[in-house]
Amino acid sequence: MVRSKEEINSFKLQWYHKNKERLGERLRARAREYYHKNKDLCQIKIKIWREKNRARLLAYSAEQYRANRSKKIAYSRLYYSKNKEKINHLHREWLKENAEHIRRYGKEYRASNRSVVNTRKRGWASKNPDKIRLMGKKQYEKNKDKYKERSRAYYLANREECLARNKKWRQSDVGRSAFKVKKHNRSKRIRETGKISTKDWLVIRNTSPMCLMCGKFVECEKLTLDHIIPLSKGGTHTIENIQPLCFSCNSRKHARVRDNNESSQKRI
Ligand SMILES: [Zn+2]
Repeated sequence: MVRSKEEINSFKLQWYHKNKERLGERLRARAREYYHKNKDLCQIKIKIWREKNRARLLAYSAEQYRANRSKKIAYSRLYYSKNKEKINHLHREWLKENAEHIRRYGKEYRASNRSVVNTRKRGWASKNPDKIRLMGKKQYEKNKDKYKERSRAYYLANREECLARNKKWRQSDVGRSAFKVKKHNRSKRIRETGKISTKDWLVIRNTSPMCLMCGKFVECEKLTLDHIIPLSKGGTHTIENIQPLCFSCNSRKHARVRDNNESSQKRI
């Protein structure tokens, strides 16, 4: 009778399991030796076997997991606490390698679970207002130039609308009280750091009848006092920190830092 290869292999395996105890260490050592000599081949064979028996293996490990759940959890906790650095490093590496996959998966998940995600987000946000503020701040600092450029472009395209909205805000209760606070802070800063007498300012103003920012001729009486480093940005009310500008340049400069004593003739 001719036996097929599978049958022979299965007999061999049965024989092995029957005689495992009897043969013991000797057989295992031989198997180990064989494995080390033919590592590549063995690994390929193992891989093929695993692929073939995937479902069985998954069922087996799930069963094992269920049976020893608490033990397994305790063990992984212990393992994690001992190998924290290593695991975190590996995890970070994995995240980096699979960034594209994670992004795509997250996008799909969010798209199909929108309401769940939003509810969760709102819940988290209401519990962590400080974190939200900090995150916003970080985000802003990172993309400062981009945001500024964008809002500038929006302003230029919708000037009338922006001006009307600002005016409305200034006349609202919030706007009025914000303006009061600003004014208060400003006069406080002037009081605390101020060392400029009217005479000093007049000397500076009357030196030349010219705006230092646009370079235009302006009557001395119409030049306004500008703080190079704005008071709101920590500038002081001292002679070193002031320059004469025309009214329109001064309001355009707003709360920006710009010293025209050094670089005149340049526009913002
Ligand atoms: Zn000017």
